[in-house]
Amino acid sequence: MTQPTQPQADISAGDLISSNKWGTFFGISQKTLDHVWKNLTSPSGNSIMYISMEIGADRDVFHPIMSKLRKLGVTKTTDDVLNHFITLFLHGPAKIPNYGGGLGILAGDTLKSFADLKIPVVGISLLYRKGYFSQMVDSQVGQISTATDWSPENTPSLYLLKNPENPAIPLEIEIPFFDKHDKQISARAQLWLKMEVNSKLDYFVPEILLDFSIPSSPDWIRMVSQTLYDSISDETKAIQRRLLGASVMPAMKALGLTANTLHLNEQHGVIVVLNMIAQWLEKKYGPDYQEKATNQDILNAADAVAEKIVFTIHTPVKAGHDRFSKAIISHIGHAFCQNILELLAKDDEFPSSFNFTRLAMRVNRATNSVSRLHKEVTRKQFPEFKDKISAITNGVHHLTWISDAKAELYDDFDELKNWRQDPSVFTKAKQLTANSTFRSYFSQAWLKDTENLIDYINTMLIQHRVQMHETWIDPPNYLSHLDENERPLNPRVFTLGFARRFSTYKRADLIFDNIDTLADIIVTNNFPVNFIYAGKAHPQDIPGQTIIRQILNLGEELYTKSNGLAKLVFIPGYDMKIAKMMVSGVHAWLNSPKRPLEASGTSGMKAALNGVPNISTMDGWWVEGYHNGQTGWKFGYESDIESACLSESPDTLLYEHDSAAFYAVFPEILRNFYNRDSDDTYINKSIANLALNCPIFNTHRMAAEYVSRYNLDLPAAIFKKIEKLRKIYQSDT
Ligand SMILES: *Cc1c(COP(=O)(O)O)cnc(C)c1O
Repeated sequence: MTQPTQPQADISAGDLISSNKWGTFFGISQKTLDHVWKNLTSPSGNSIMYISMEIGADRDVFHPIMSKLRKLGVTKTTDDVLNHFITLFLHGPAKIPNYGGGLGILAGDTLKSFADLKIPVVGISLLYRKGYFSQMVDSQVGQISTATDWSPENTPSLYLLKNPENPAIPLEIEIPFFDKHDKQISARAQLWLKMEVNSKLDYFVPEILLDFSIPSSPDWIRMVSQTLYDSISDETKAIQRRLLGASVMPAMKALGLTANTLHLNEQHGVIVVLNMIAQWLEKKYGPDYQEKATNQDILNAADAVAEKIVFTIHTPVKAGHDRFSKAIISHIGHAFCQNILELLAKDDEFPSSFNFTRLAMRVNRATNSVSRLHKEVTRKQFPEFKDKISAITNGVHHLTWISDAKAELYDDFDELKNWRQDPSVFTKAKQLTANSTFRSYFSQAWLKDTENLIDYINTMLIQHRVQMHETWIDPPNYLSHLDENERPLNPRVFTLGFARRFSTYKRADLIFDNIDTLADIIVTNNFPVNFIYAGKAHPQDIPGQTIIRQILNLGEELYTKSNGLAKLVFIPGYDMKIAKMMVSGVHAWLNSPKRPLEASGTSGMKAALNGVPNISTMDGWWVEGYHNGQTGWKFGYESDIESACLSESPDTLLYEHDSAAFYAVFPEILRNFYNRDSDDTYINKSIANLALNCPIFNTHRMAAEYVSRYNLDLPAAIFKKIEKLRKIYQSDT
């Protein structure tokens, strides 16, 4: 066979390489770079700074630059610089482990949609040299967490920014800090730039990632900055928050960024408002503002600063809200900041602490909850801010989460024309409900996704057995020990998926509350079931880790009691790639939190975009996505929000009631699935997800709703597009 010739003619350095005083970048043209940078540095301040503790955007689930290279069939050229980038982008690592879960992935999805819609936004976060932890799982020990090794230097789409005065060295910023002896020191960070480039490669959203793990920063700062959500101590946690919040102004200044509105994705970076208040006072009173400013001046400054802040609150769960003892804060911050916090961050419940969630609630022009139900809960939790709390329901980036097989299918039908640019066209999927060609192609695409997932699992089960001889890790799954006749999962068997962080309120083990009942349902109907689980518990969350161990322990019992019909699998190392395989490949997506503790939840939306129905308690987004049962199933206690219990303590988690409710609906779901040849119920629910949920639960619509909370002037064409997306749905009704 002859080698296919490479069509090299299509690619030229001019299209894909661009540079400015901060560095040289790959994947966008000079024109695009200049255009975006001009927007972000314009004296008008007509742009947004998006602040988040984590940003999740792995390249193995969405990679427009790599896709373009593949499409062009380019593998090398004669230009050395270009060659370096092509090799890196085609073969470099796909993971940037700067996320822990839903919050970070939402941030990444949001920034990707802003890039698609050409909204001038820049993101900022920390760069964690040891990322979030990596998860291994042993049948006896349960979760084993280890540091994640990665090298930003060799990761495509990450660029270390240069010092324009001396391009041989990196740009560094400095923020004042205090050591153990109250001595002022400076923490220094170099800045990485990650680009979220849109599919057409003609716009991008830059993310500034602050890297404090450099020789010019004190050792203890370097240590504290390495691991996302390191909560070895409250002090470590507080220092991480300050590293993010206090860096925003210095980073903006160093890069000439002018954003007039700051968006706080959760309160983690709220310390930035202390800087802004101080700046406001300094402008008014000059350098000795700290002596001159009265409490009333500080409150006035806070009101002025609030006009520039948009805040999204993500959870009603206590662990998600930041409280720090005053003693810790006085160690790491200025005395004047302490004064501001006394006025704005009081904690009524714990008078010796500052409440950073309250600070973020206080200083903003719009507080957004992440679903309609969460709005009610947030209003109940923060009654004094009731009037400014509104809802913008979360979404997911549809181009990231729709599987390749489904994307090809959607491409093939005129009704869905342009779905990539404009997910609101999915409303037209209603016309496809009765189209038998579509129905049959849809089932085929789904089967392909299921086969993909089941192949992965079957290979993994064998690998775990092999690894047993090479490491001391015992295979997490009972199935690994079975032989070839019994072990493999079958893609035609009803496959139920559950994957998310293992927090106790999510009740991952809810449906195993009564194994006998569950096995009975399966045996009586003779309906086999695959139960696929994944997810990480924070290394300090012992109850969460206990749930993982309990689920692993159930594999054998469930298999035996169901006469081998029920197969339970736990996939270690949950990440975006595994998530995408699962949400597109399973037949139903399970969500069983205790209402109303799941503020939104996004994995169920990812399933819905692939036409996979949800089985969920009436919590978070599902209250809006359920459409009276057209798109899936509900179960569990529907507490009224006024009297709802927000506790996570085990005796309030309602296991018995809600598991019984699940066992009541499960047989019907299995019947619907196994009778698909004669009964349309199942496939109708799937297609209803495309028509009813795809247009709404995507980050394009969500970004469009956010734009209405921002202070932004947009070109007419972009504004029109945003308006169209916004007409589809108003979260806040
Ligand atoms: C989507 C996603 C989450 C968040 O899922 P929830 O349903 O919101 O809990 C967490 N981790 C990964 C890897 C995801 O892809």
